[in-house]
Amino acid sequence: MLTKGGEVELSVVIPVYNEEESLHRLFEELWPVMENLGRSFEIIFINDGSRDSTMGILYDFYISRPEVRVIDLGANFGQHMAIMAGFDHSRGGKIITLDADLQNPPSEIPNILKQMDAGHDVVGTYRVGRQDPIFRKVASKCINRLTNRIAKLKIRDYGCMLRGYDRRIIDIINQSHESTTFIPALAQKFAVDPIEIPVAHRERELGQSKYGLFQLIRLNFDLMTSFSLVPLQLVTMAGMLLSALSFLLLFYMFARRLFLGIGTWQSFLEQAFDASLFVISGITLFSLGIIGEYIGRIYREVSKRPRYSVRKIFEHGGKDDEKA
Ligand code: UDP
Ligand code: MG
Repeated sequence: MLTKGGEVELSVVIPVYNEEESLHRLFEELWPVMENLGRSFEIIFINDGSRDSTMGILYDFYISRPEVRVIDLGANFGQHMAIMAGFDHSRGGKIITLDADLQNPPSEIPNILKQMDAGHDVVGTYRVGRQDPIFRKVASKCINRLTNRIAKLKIRDYGCMLRGYDRRIIDIINQSHESTTFIPALAQKFAVDPIEIPVAHRERELGQSKYGLFQLIRLNFDLMTSFSLVPLQLVTMAGMLLSALSFLLLFYMFARRLFLGIGTWQSFLEQAFDASLFVISGITLFSLGIIGEYIGRIYREVSKRPRYSVRKIFEHGGKDDEKA
């Protein structure tokens, strides 16, 4: 198997989308942590089509440190595709992902490495003292549970991207050519000896979350439909159940009219029609939506579009090396 791994000991992969407020502080915190590790490393920033001054700041980092590489994507492809781009270009024997907004403290990196050194091939994290709005906390608790159940996974906290992966896992992920995915879940599927450790979590002080309600729903649909066919089967079963129920209801109303002589045949017909119409149109719409989700994904898979496009890579010693 072709692998680029092992050229440096550690790659840190950071997706960045409109994070001009956070980047300087992130770098100030990250750099000393990396230097104190006593290992060879690279830091890969992926600029995910930012429209603010993010790219300029990343370029400055690249100019000032040979360990920094910047992958400038051609458009906004989303957090997980940006991380994929980082994985594709990573050279480390171990890979750690990190958010750019300082919600995952870089000071946790040595703890993750310690677990990896102990032989764990995927080191997940869960947030303690999570500092997000209550709506996000409750929603993600429900979704974590639901997703674990239907995708047959055991991940405590899907939202925490501070995670460590062995090169072997990254190679497998790089070979999975899905066009929508959720990286922690994908990695967990291939992990031999995963572990999860608690990490501190901070409130986002600078900039705004890039996920509104709509994006969160999308992300969770990606997560569920990429890893399970259960939603599809649930809909079929709900459809069957509700059809059976409305049939029973109709039968009951029919029997009532026939044997007890309650109401007129005219009103029976009207009520029956109303009752069944409601239920059935609800199920139909919902089912169509879910089927649509899967078909949309199949469409994306078969169209085999590249998952992301790279505008330019800034790396020292690379062919696009801008600096001597
Ligand atoms: N991000 C990205 N592309 C996007 C959205 C987000 O690369 O389309 C990055 C973002 O810059 C940050 C990380 O993904 O480094 C997590 O995003 P955010 O903090 O907005 O998510 P949240 O913490 O609210 O889940
Ligand atoms: Mg965040």
